[in-house]
Amino acid sequence: MNNYITVDRIEKELDFVNLVITTTNIDAKNEDDLFKTFTQDEFKLINLTRNSQIHSSIVNKIDENNIGQKIDGDALITNVPKVPLLILTADCVPVVIVDPVNKAIGLAHAGWRGTYDNISEKTIKEMSKNYNSNPKDLICVIGPSIGPCCYEVSKDLVEKFNTNLANYAGKFDIIKDDKYYLDLWKINELMLRDCKVKEENIINLQICTNCNHDKFYSYRKHNKTPKRIGTMIQIR
Ligand SMILES: [Zn+2]
Repeated sequence: MNNYITVDRIEKELDFVNLVITTTNIDAKNEDDLFKTFTQDEFKLINLTRNSQIHSSIVNKIDENNIGQKIDGDALITNVPKVPLLILTADCVPVVIVDPVNKAIGLAHAGWRGTYDNISEKTIKEMSKNYNSNPKDLICVIGPSIGPCCYEVSKDLVEKFNTNLANYAGKFDIIKDDKYYLDLWKINELMLRDCKVKEENIINLQICTNCNHDKFYSYRKHNKTPKRIGTMIQIR
């Protein structure tokens, strides 16, 4: 197994960015692991910029004033080349947003709270405001995260989402043997489409971390592990 995976379509179509998603071979929370895995040509890690993730819906714009910092929030956007942005997850949903027209990127950490607070939409709005991004041009990736197969939640949480999503068509929960499961993938897809991202430009990798725990960290499966999957993107 490699230390990371890449996304075929991003590799083929978007040659101005590098995007990787790390596996259980390394812990993306540990910067030494990142430095050992990637050369400075691949990712200029001395500029690595990340959030102190707090399950908020705060989006941070990264420019010459805050490159290399660790900033409270759960999403990052930039149009500065050679600045790797990193989001850490283990079951929560990493959402990658790429604007090939204005050459800008965004990353969001969407756990249930971020998803509920529509952090993907907030990230896109900030990209539109700052970089003139048009949602119709954006390409988005929904990375490895806990799938509807395994994300058992309380009935209360399902009801909270159903109330929030009452105006949307579709079903976002699954009830199996009196247990409630939430489909964070579908909810994030819906929110992206609602922002006018084209359906064909939403790449849901559909990798459930709980089912694929041999390859990706799962907070639930790995007994509340402190180790994390890194979703890292940089403009070349
Ligand atoms: Zn699963």
